[in-house]
Amino acid sequence: MTCIHLLYVPTMACNMQCRYCYLEDQTVDKQMGHEALETLSFAVDAFRDAGIMPFNISLHGGEVTTLSPDVFRSLVSYISDYYAQHGDEIRTAGFPVGRPHIKTNLYGLDRHIDAIRDFQVSVSGSLDLPFSLHDEYRVTKGGEPTLDRILKNVKQMESLPNRKKVSATIFREHYLRTDEIIEDIWYLHRNTCLDMNDFNFMIGFEYNTTSA
Ligand code: SF4
Repeated sequence: MTCIHLLYVPTMACNMQCRYCYLEDQTVDKQMGHEALETLSFAVDAFRDAGIMPFNISLHGGEVTTLSPDVFRSLVSYISDYYAQHGDEIRTAGFPVGRPHIKTNLYGLDRHIDAIRDFQVSVSGSLDLPFSLHDEYRVTKGGEPTLDRILKNVKQMESLPNRKKVSATIFREHYLRTDEIIEDIWYLHRNTCLDMNDFNFMIGFEYNTTSA
């Protein structure tokens, strides 16, 4: 049996327009409906029929929180059931059995907080450090800042037992503000539910960055 980590993109829609977006102009405004679940279920069945076992299924984008609450819930519910059904097989193959996992920009997380709680969804979010540069890069399609809302959404996860972590993208400009970055990492560690020992940077590339 071949085992894979299945990274599924249920939507190419995004509610933000980061100035360094790796998808450049490929994000769309069109919303995905229940075909998002049909596609995932079809793919998982096809893999299994071919002797390939997803030991982990993660949701990526675009931005997964742009899905309607119904569709989002149906996806994390499906993944949760998948782990319940195939947990022994996954463990026998040598992998831990996880929880449904999402990569998110955190901006629309509040729309799905009930499903995240109900299915103990593991959340890997992104924000930029230092905070003073976040709103230079991570803006809405209308160019509005996003940090305040993102920090409010981090707060909403406080009472949830699910795993949550963040990462931040850095360019050359960020290296000039390392003291501020360190200060903001401490701020998040001491004042939010984020354990900043579980944190990573991603390196940004200039080629797809428009100036702020
Ligand atoms: S959150 Fe930013 S980087 Fe991610 S898809 Fe949306 S615009 Fe691109």
